[in-house]
Amino acid sequence: MDEMSQTGSGRLLRLKRRDLLRGTAALGAAALAPSLPAAAQTGGAYAHLPARGEFVIRNAYVLTMDEKLGDLPRGDIHVRNGAIIAVGKSLKAPGAKTIDAKTMIALPGLIDTHWHMWGTAASNTAGDDPKMGYFSFAKAVGAIFKPEDNARGVRLAIAEAIDSGLTTVHNWSHNIVSPAYADAELAAHTAMGHRALFGYGYFGIRMENQPVNVADLPRVNEKWIKPSEGLLTLGVCSRGPESNNMDMVRMEWEAARKMGLRVSTHVGTSLAKVKERQAVKKLNEAGLLGPDVILVHDTNMVDDDTEILGRTKTEVSVSPFTELRTGFGVTPILKFLAAKVPIGLSVDTTVLAGNADMFAIMKAIQNIDDGTTPSEFGITARRVLEMATIEGARSMQMEKQIGSLTPGKRADIILVRTDALNMAPMADPVRMIVQAAQPANVDTVMVDGRILKRHGKLITIDVAKTMREAAETVARVSAQIGKS
Ligand SMILES: [Zn+2]
Repeated sequence: MDEMSQTGSGRLLRLKRRDLLRGTAALGAAALAPSLPAAAQTGGAYAHLPARGEFVIRNAYVLTMDEKLGDLPRGDIHVRNGAIIAVGKSLKAPGAKTIDAKTMIALPGLIDTHWHMWGTAASNTAGDDPKMGYFSFAKAVGAIFKPEDNARGVRLAIAEAIDSGLTTVHNWSHNIVSPAYADAELAAHTAMGHRALFGYGYFGIRMENQPVNVADLPRVNEKWIKPSEGLLTLGVCSRGPESNNMDMVRMEWEAARKMGLRVSTHVGTSLAKVKERQAVKKLNEAGLLGPDVILVHDTNMVDDDTEILGRTKTEVSVSPFTELRTGFGVTPILKFLAAKVPIGLSVDTTVLAGNADMFAIMKAIQNIDDGTTPSEFGITARRVLEMATIEGARSMQMEKQIGSLTPGKRADIILVRTDALNMAPMADPVRMIVQAAQPANVDTVMVDGRILKRHGKLITIDVAKTMREAAETVARVSAQIGKS
């Protein structure tokens, strides 16, 4: 297979080259264009961001996370117009801008599979006072957030995501008071040029039997998803069956599946109520499980829950820091692995997790696995890194586009410096990423071929303004709910 025999833009680029060589332009501009919507050719929704351009990353330690390609201790990655064109040694790439990565590890961008991004504007504000724990606080601030407050949370979250090497997120949006809130969040996503599954959720945490506004989904699809050049995907976030009637749950699932959208819901968060709630059993009996479903947490499960999830290929998103912090319990990673349940890793909420450090999340998963096995050799660092890359991509049904550095896939790539104290000395790069790395070691972040972080600095985001706006929001809402 040659370097351009893959899917998508690779195939079209080969067409273009051949036609240029033969001197025949008979296919016309439309046929010759790379596989991007028309809007992309004229700037489109992302005209305000850096052009995709052509780059060759040289001499990195490349962790492709592609089973066939493996690792390249000194490799190059050629990127053109948002696609990975080739991965190999000493690649010929005339005209491409060179990115010297000889002191860096190159790997696919990290993938989050469940994050309530709106709440990032209220990080570190809840938790010590039993009267105002996370859920009470989120309910109180959610009720007085305006659309712009949601957007500020999303912008702050995406800025931290990019800074931390997270190139794809699942924005589990559960403060959609009205369509204007969805618009505000999606405008924030579009402004940042980040990749996301936007999970259209409900309003009012712990309100029961209030369905998602599924009638708004086609509008959102037309207005935001279609012009997004593949960066945004739409999903549905359901309240789920634990405290809500199954008719509502079924209605939401049906609406999502009719449009081919992924569905997600929280399950198994309470040990005390798990037997009465039986969420996985209810979903299974209703025929609602499957590979298009992401269940969040399932920390507390009943009997054969994992067998059901493994058999139906239903994904689970685990967020070890918030599961521990809220007292849901210790992430049952061993049970999921034993039943071959597909696993994605997640931030969940920085109100409780404190930050969006996916390196720390990977390390926590490895440590929880080893601690509960118990064995120093419970799980390999590479298996955990798969969860944050290619398996995370599968969880989001995006594995054809992202999750590994494979020619033909979109260029979501991060470069992690090895010349920092916490990374020294250079040894096994996978262990360095999972056990040692921190967001501060992320030198370069590329999303869809656009460089958004370079030399350790965010280059497309006004960081000071983003932080200031979030501070204004948290000051205002804290005053309104009488919390200082
Ligand atoms: Zn959640």
